[in-house]
Amino acid sequence: MGIPFPYKKFKLVDGHGREIHKLRISLLDACNMSCLYCMPENKDFLAKNNWASAEEIVEIAGNLVLYGIDQIRLTGGEPLLRPDLRTIIKKLDKLPLAKFGLTTNAIHLDRELSFLKNTNCQYLNISLDSLDRENFFKITQTDTFSKVFHSLIKAQEAGLKVKINTVLLKGLNDHEIDQFILFSKKTGIEVRFLELMKIGVANHYFTKHFISADEIIKKMELKWDFKQRPMPKDSTSFNFTFNNGAEIGFIASESKPFCGGCSRLRLGSDGAIRPCLFMDQGISLKGLKGDDLLEALQKTIRLKPTDRIPTIERPMHKIGG
Ligand code: SAM
Ligand code: SF4
Repeated sequence: MGIPFPYKKFKLVDGHGREIHKLRISLLDACNMSCLYCMPENKDFLAKNNWASAEEIVEIAGNLVLYGIDQIRLTGGEPLLRPDLRTIIKKLDKLPLAKFGLTTNAIHLDRELSFLKNTNCQYLNISLDSLDRENFFKITQTDTFSKVFHSLIKAQEAGLKVKINTVLLKGLNDHEIDQFILFSKKTGIEVRFLELMKIGVANHYFTKHFISADEIIKKMELKWDFKQRPMPKDSTSFNFTFNNGAEIGFIASESKPFCGGCSRLRLGSDGAIRPCLFMDQGISLKGLKGDDLLEALQKTIRLKPTDRIPTIERPMHKIGG
């Protein structure tokens, strides 16, 4: 694809001074895991013929770069299940991005490593909710711990920039905090603990399994020495460096929402753009250009909330986390 020119003709700045420069692209809503807090029992995936095509995704992303998007993260569902993943990445790779990454459950990461190594898609957020095989099975409902663990270590060794996402689940994995700290110390990989968000099925687990970042930090203080690192203005996480070298972050979307500094738009696997994880309404960007595209983007960012919307019933795998 030819790169559109000139770049950053416009900046997308909303009425609250938030400069929108990050784009999450959900490549599909299907997944090969069934994490308790994400995947409903009755799986209902978008038919393939309704997915935005590789060409549409690349065209939309290329157009959004003109409006100041400089960071793209691919997600899903499970993005590595997309058959044309490599085509999409190769084309997006030509865009002038400051940061390009993907979020994955890593079941199929091994087979993509040598491909990814030769692209700019270097920032991998890998979900790992437990360091114990049986517990991993209980949470994800797949017996893939060894595969995931080996792949993430290989990715780190290959020089890709790996971070771990671990959803905090009271009574399910909150007894593993020390092990995650030791894992980070040993591997040099940053672990980010995500508060469980009230999205989709997680609404039904919330009372039983939510545990706040503060509760975990208090527990960590009893045993470990660590210092908070300075955080960029639109960062979603706050991060700590431990005396032993571990790097631990928190994304406390429930107890410390960061909507006031949010700089993201979300492109769904259906080609619709949404202003927020917690908003269902989307505008299809397929085929939109020029004034029509700008109008759709302006409409979308006008809807971007500044305060956390309490909950959404739409499942997370459909939104694209
Ligand atoms: N399948 C990929 C994965 O799991 O990394 C990408 C999509 S997944 C929806 C993206 C991230 O959202 C994962 O780290 C997952 O653990 C997280 N997630 C899903 N549902 C969540 C919830 N209700 N609260 C907090 N995080 C959630
Ligand atoms: Fe799949 Fe990711 Fe949802 Fe787990 S969190 S079910 S891996 S989309």
